[in-house]
Amino acid sequence: MNKVLVFIDAFQGEPKKASLELFTAAREWGQQVVAVGVNLQDPQALGQYGAHRVYHAQSDALSYYTPNAFRDLVLQVVEKEQPDALLFPGTKNGRELVGLVAAALGVPAVSEAMEARLVDGALEIRRTVYTGKVFATLRLQAKPFVVAFKVKSLNVAEAPVEGTEVVTVEPPAQDTVKVLDIHEKEKGEPDVAEADIIVSGGRGLGGPEAFELLRELAREIARITGETVAIGASRAAVDAGWIDHSHQVGQTGKVVTPRLYIAIGISGALQHLAGMRNSKFIVAINKDPEAPIFKVADAGLVEDLFKAVPKLTEELRKL
Ligand SMILES: Cc1cc2nc3c(=O)[nH]c(=O)nc-3n(C[C@H](O)[C@H](O)[C@H](O)COP(=O)(O)OP(=O)(O)OC[C@H]3O[C@@H](n4cnc5c(N)ncnc54)[C@H](O)[C@@H]3O)c2cc1C
Repeated sequence: MNKVLVFIDAFQGEPKKASLELFTAAREWGQQVVAVGVNLQDPQALGQYGAHRVYHAQSDALSYYTPNAFRDLVLQVVEKEQPDALLFPGTKNGRELVGLVAAALGVPAVSEAMEARLVDGALEIRRTVYTGKVFATLRLQAKPFVVAFKVKSLNVAEAPVEGTEVVTVEPPAQDTVKVLDIHEKEKGEPDVAEADIIVSGGRGLGGPEAFELLRELAREIARITGETVAIGASRAAVDAGWIDHSHQVGQTGKVVTPRLYIAIGISGALQHLAGMRNSKFIVAINKDPEAPIFKVADAGLVEDLFKAVPKLTEELRKL
């Protein structure tokens, strides 16, 4: 492949990790890697990940993502660069944009990609279907290939290139969609969609106070591993008002693929599994040995969580 274009989804000028992951595929496939982003603090820094050229738009009108303006920006760069493939992160914005851009180009879009490889000039993609229960392998023939990767399917790796060129692009006219107001969620707590490790609680916690036990455990795990550890929750815990909906994992919450998912007092209903079954390693703590969560767990502990969690935290403190 000659060129691969990477869309950079950013927050407050910082590229999201899910965008940086895309460079791993882009470098492997393309002789040239081109990126496009809006209001980045340091577009040149994308050279660290292998970007030869970065198209950058600076605009107060685009402080927040809006679909049509961002689509038009990407199309503007596509017209200039004629890339063979366009990669989008599996973030909320990336998943929306992948369809809009593909529709405008008249080619298919594939989202939720977990792996992709070039086979005889086509792109073969493995992705999940039926809320993560089944894998499908698809083959894209029509170029450009337009793909959104599931968050954390690829690893971030630095591979610096010399002399990354930053090309300033005219921001597209204001969108027909306008962001009126942004309400920021509780600060300081990592997002489950971005975390490497998730400690998740369900109805078994019995109330909001027990989430403090999970937070203590999460803090110890973060201290020892140096990883981002987020607090997740089942819908039962969210519906009970014990924790904000932004923590909910599942079919009507967030779909997550952390390296480690610890399900505590969660039964493992299908709708919850839909959000976490593709986690790399699953640990379940539940007092019911028949709980369905144990069917997907790599390791399980049949125990009262009020005994197990403080004990675990105490042991980790010794490390
Ligand atoms: C359309 C639709 C969408 C849905 N979307 C979602 C979704 O996105 N996410 C989601 O999570 N659910 C979703 N649900 C709800 C889902 O079906 C379940 O009701 C929910 O996941 C149950 O949550 P839970 O496992 O916390 O509670 P429960 O099923 O009540 O399980 C509680 C578990 O805690 C254990 N337990 C109790 N006390 C203790 C203790 N002291 N120590 C250890 N273990 C203990 C019990 O053995 C039990 O297994 C959805 C449902 C529908 C219909």
